Amino acid sequence: MTDIVILGAGPAGAAVALGLRRLGLSVCVVSDWRRFAALEGVSQRVLEGLRSAGLQHALANAAEPSQRQVAWNGEQHARNIEFLLDRPRFDRGLREDLHAAGVTLIEGRVLTVSSTDAGHTIALDGGQCLRADFLVEARGRQAPQAGTAGRAVRGPETLSLLNRWQGQPGKTASAVQSLEDGWVWMARQADGRCYWQLTVDVASARLPGKAQLLEYCRERRRQSKWAQAFFQRAAETDLQLHARSSTAVLSQQACGDNWIRVGDAAMAVDPLSGNGIFQSLSSALQAPAVINTLLHQPQRAALARQFHQQRVEQLFWRFARTGRDFYAQEQQWPNGPFWQVRSGWPDSEPAHKTVDFAALKIQSAPVLRDGLVEAAQVVVTPDQPLGIWHIQGVELAPLVSRLRHEPAQQVLAGLSEEQGRTIRGWLLSQGYRPW
Ligand SMILES: Cc1cc2nc3c(=O)[nH]c(=O)nc-3n(C[C@H](O)[C@H](O)[C@H](O)COP(=O)(O)OP(=O)(O)OC[C@H]3O[C@@H](n4cnc5c(N)ncnc54)[C@H](O)[C@@H]3O)c2cc1C
Repeated sequence: MTDIVILGAGPAGAAVALGLRRLGLSVCVVSDWRRFAALEGVSQRVLEGLRSAGLQHALANAAEPSQRQVAWNGEQHARNIEFLLDRPRFDRGLREDLHAAGVTLIEGRVLTVSSTDAGHTIALDGGQCLRADFLVEARGRQAPQAGTAGRAVRGPETLSLLNRWQGQPGKTASAVQSLEDGWVWMARQADGRCYWQLTVDVASARLPGKAQLLEYCRERRRQSKWAQAFFQRAAETDLQLHARSSTAVLSQQACGDNWIRVGDAAMAVDPLSGNGIFQSLSSALQAPAVINTLLHQPQRAALARQFHQQRVEQLFWRFARTGRDFYAQEQQWPNGPFWQVRSGWPDSEPAHKTVDFAALKIQSAPVLRDGLVEAAQVVVTPDQPLGIWHIQGVELAPLVSRLRHEPAQQVLAGLSEEQGRTIRGWLLSQGYRPW
């Protein structure tokens, strides 16, 4: 049996472990606990993703719905519902999901990992040493970037200061507000636990020394009418501060023949998107098939590595460009360093490319089938450069190639009514205009 060891029991590490168990592979997870209590906002889509990954215990009682208030570019509105995820409770639930699936979990801190083509040696705090044939790096932003992975791509250096305290119980609420030097996210849970998170630009923020940071944050809240109204001027009991980097980071190499990086360890996005857990799940859900291929179909190793690498990169740059466009919508301080840098990073390429049916290409690309990576003919569009294999069970490549010289009615004749509707909708969205 090949020993697979996963470092980190966050959403990414847990999702990979459960996926590997479903493929019948035995796996061991080694993880420390997060050192601070955070609250994070996620969408309904993320809750569904977590549920379908098998993380039911993690979700039980961990998410409270909240209507998010937004103050951006001088306008205020109540945006969509977000779900406030209590991370300590969520993280405990992730471990219950691992236990329930029969995954071995070692609680401990990883000090060093030394890797060769023959395997990995993992040294834990307390002297224990583990051997792994295959390593899954899922230690989030704390995963070291140096070594096999080379230098990482980094967005504008960004710092988030999180304050947490016990306030007055009340209605669950959350809000985001743009400020001249950054943005702030505020939330209150029904039991009165309050969170205020200020995100600033490292290069231009004029922050005091560590000893004065807590008072600095408190003073900024006192001076903000919005924060005063949001927290109802209640006393801040047991006030705590945690500072962490929130710079967007893309690892240069996400996969080797006997290791893979998933979640924030592969790519960490700007927290403004509120999509960190979503992206960490994306790379984690595809990883079990990649690992399965590397272990059991080594002749397809290059294809499997390409599959993981391309998807991680594609997601990173798409998030980065979407984030850039959102920052650019804030026009109150166009010359403020925070906004100027972020509304221009990473480049000026559009987040989504214009559709053009004539530009569709058919080519061979890695896809997932039955828990393995294999090559298939896919349709590459300007906006989906990695290609689309099938929609609702209908393979697109043969269909698109026939449409180039056959009438649509003839090509779509064999499809069910529902498939026909979906495929017609997709063709129209790609600029196909025969009807
Ligand atoms: C300021 C900020 C705000 C955010 N807000 C949101 C939000 O509102 N919504 C959202 O969706 N995402 C948010 N995120 C992102 C979200 O936290 C991450 O994307 C997500 O948790 C990544 O999951 P992961 O499993 O890759 O890593 P993590 O959740 O970080 O899990 C890593 C695990 O590895 C363990 N670990 C680390 N080092 C070691 C070690 N040496 N030894 C053993 N174990 C170790 C950790 O204890 C942890 O359990 C935010 C991020 C930041 C920085």
